[in-house]
Amino acid sequence: MMTSNRSMNITRTTTIVRGLAIALAMFFGNQLVAQYSPLSQSEAMAEMQRFSSGKRVLYLAAHPDDENTRLIAWLSNALDAETTYLSLTKGSGGQNLLGDELGENLGVIREHELRAARSIDGGNQRFTDALDFGYSKSVDEVWTKWNHEDLVRQVVHVIRELQPDFILTRFPPDSRAGHGHHTASAELAIECAKLAGDSTYMSSMPRWKVGGVWWNTSIWWDKTLKDDPEAVHLDLSGFDPLHGDSYGAIGDAARSMHKCQGFGVPINRGPREEYFKKLWGEADLESYLELEERETDQNSRLAQDASFALEIGDQDQAIAKWAVLGRNILEHNSGLSNRYQRWQRVMLHLTGLYAEYYTSSNPLPSDAEFKAMVEIQAMSSGANVYLASLRTSGKQMALNPPQLVGPDGIQLEAELNVVKANSTEVVDHARVRLEIGEEIIMLFMKPIAKLSDRAIGEYREEVAIDPLLHSKFDQSVYWNNGKKSLLGYSVYARKDGIYNWTVSASLPSEQTLIWEHSVSENLKEGWNHFEETVPAKLPLGRFEVSLSTTALDEAGLVVTKRMPEKHTISYPHVGTHYRYRDARSTLSVLDLSSKRIKVGYIEGAGDQMDETLESIGYDVIKITEETPELWELVDAVLVGIRAFNTEPWLMKSQERIASYVKGGGNFVVTYTTAGRSGMELPLPVPLTIGRDRVTEEYAPVSFVSHPLTMEPNKISNADFEQWVQERGLYFPVVNESYTTIFSIEESTGIIYPNSTVVADFGKGSVIYTGLSLFRELPAGVPGALRVLQNILHYDH
Ligand SMILES: [Zn+2]
Repeated sequence: MMTSNRSMNITRTTTIVRGLAIALAMFFGNQLVAQYSPLSQSEAMAEMQRFSSGKRVLYLAAHPDDENTRLIAWLSNALDAETTYLSLTKGSGGQNLLGDELGENLGVIREHELRAARSIDGGNQRFTDALDFGYSKSVDEVWTKWNHEDLVRQVVHVIRELQPDFILTRFPPDSRAGHGHHTASAELAIECAKLAGDSTYMSSMPRWKVGGVWWNTSIWWDKTLKDDPEAVHLDLSGFDPLHGDSYGAIGDAARSMHKCQGFGVPINRGPREEYFKKLWGEADLESYLELEERETDQNSRLAQDASFALEIGDQDQAIAKWAVLGRNILEHNSGLSNRYQRWQRVMLHLTGLYAEYYTSSNPLPSDAEFKAMVEIQAMSSGANVYLASLRTSGKQMALNPPQLVGPDGIQLEAELNVVKANSTEVVDHARVRLEIGEEIIMLFMKPIAKLSDRAIGEYREEVAIDPLLHSKFDQSVYWNNGKKSLLGYSVYARKDGIYNWTVSASLPSEQTLIWEHSVSENLKEGWNHFEETVPAKLPLGRFEVSLSTTALDEAGLVVTKRMPEKHTISYPHVGTHYRYRDARSTLSVLDLSSKRIKVGYIEGAGDQMDETLESIGYDVIKITEETPELWELVDAVLVGIRAFNTEPWLMKSQERIASYVKGGGNFVVTYTTAGRSGMELPLPVPLTIGRDRVTEEYAPVSFVSHPLTMEPNKISNADFEQWVQERGLYFPVVNESYTTIFSIEESTGIIYPNSTVVADFGKGSVIYTGLSLFRELPAGVPGALRVLQNILHYDH
């Protein structure tokens, strides 16, 4: 059972985080959850200028943090262009400096870091559904994992919807981009710009001719750019009076939102040069970037008129012109689009109105009615605003005659609609029709949770729906050596009662069931802990363990549903988000030698090798700079990932390592990062680490007959099945003093013999392995554990 103490701690931390989130939100005036967030006069003016310029730019790259925030700040605030950053992925394959969220939960943080960055630099944020599966060497590999046709469709859709004059890419469409995702993003920009203008492609949507696609390059790639006559130069320096700071400062503040990547930067207000090279198209970017006004259309003239009226204090005229602009925008855009929502915030500013659609608690219990409130209030005494009608999916109401919105406001209760199939996604929005004089104004509002706390005051969260049961496995991997074992998990019930569910293990992709057990239990409200017996002699392999419940759907049919795990993701700069995803763990059934030795572990950048070894019965002793005496007690010293990068004392331990190995110790080093010129390790047999890596997790591996592949486990090809993300990284430079063990063949035909190397010295040995054990062990890959055991037990 989880103790109540623990949940108290969680609650307290969350409250502090919420408090900070509110403070930050006020400081930056940002829209943490894209909801009611009043504009100051200068913010409203900045928005009106963006509509007035009639300029639109799309910046396109692969990940959160790829974008050039200084340039986006300049485009949004100096050029006054409506600027959108389209990130193909949400960056879930990256690292996390803030906490232990990885994968989809990291994607939530990075998505909201991007939204927070845009609320500072003035841009809009969009995504496609491309998955960030981690580093990829080549664009060919990317196209085996991303659905090209589907991504093209999504990007063309965004281009036609936003109608940009130019598309700017962060990367070139070739191998200079480095990461395969980066190359793919530039390739997509060119291909989709062409297709967006082709009326035969996706003919249901009107075509849009993009003026050109340009690479926002940098002297990092090309030192000769300064003198390149084909490159367009742009000086980003300048003061933005509406912000009271330089464009560089706005951009740096936005960049510092990428906190989980460690991108916080000091603010540089000085000049900075940007460079652009043409990838495709005819239009002239250089004259476009000059600040002179361009030929304007009807909408930009309406925005200019409204802006001028506001400046001279003619509120009625400003509202009238802005209202016409809003109607025009609605003809081609949804009410929930960035464009209309920006227009709407300005309209609320001009009319002095507060309007919001909200719930008063969060998450909402799934088995109760979802009550929400539409509230409209006039804060300015001058505005004669009438409420004419309201529509939500739970309520439709017309007021005849329309009702004057006064300083006390109007509150209308509605029922929130959620997607019934998974009961967690809120699909509702409120549509409100207001009348001001002759003008009709439509407001579109997504529901938000409006909450308050005595220590914080008012704050907001994305609405989430809390199911009756959620669960959590005790461990992310259960290693099983073919004998009976226990598998622990907890179920949280929101109400006392008898509940039924099934525990099952199946192959992750093919859904082949290898074992299941039905459970019926009387649960108390709160956490309930269970231990399930895993039977002996299950087939070897890596299996997904999950819990499922059955229920009747609306048609009376039995449906099986995975029991979710509740994830609370909460940081000051991104707010609090609840996610419910299928609770899962890994059952790894393997034939592992029963031999055990004493292992000394030197921790580096964080891997779970020590925990994995302890969980299968190894005696693991942590060794630090302060505990040199422990070396004498262990049969093998395992150096965690990047410890040679993060522990300066280890680089100075040449003598200690040499005497340990000479005396019979086995010194094992896992991946260590090296710069372009390599990195020499202080080992008794000299070894230089290079940058070879194999990102294809399915790349064939072959090996020679060597004790490392024979004892105590006989390694076979099956040990290299079910690997995840990659084979390995930072392989050493081959030298004659070391024997190479596993040869990996990439799809390019290149064979890497050097993932793992071993040298004998004195009575002991030195082993370096770049195999990505730090990734495979937490994923429960059986072969990875068998290989690690052989490496640790190596004894010539
Ligand atoms: Zn990137």
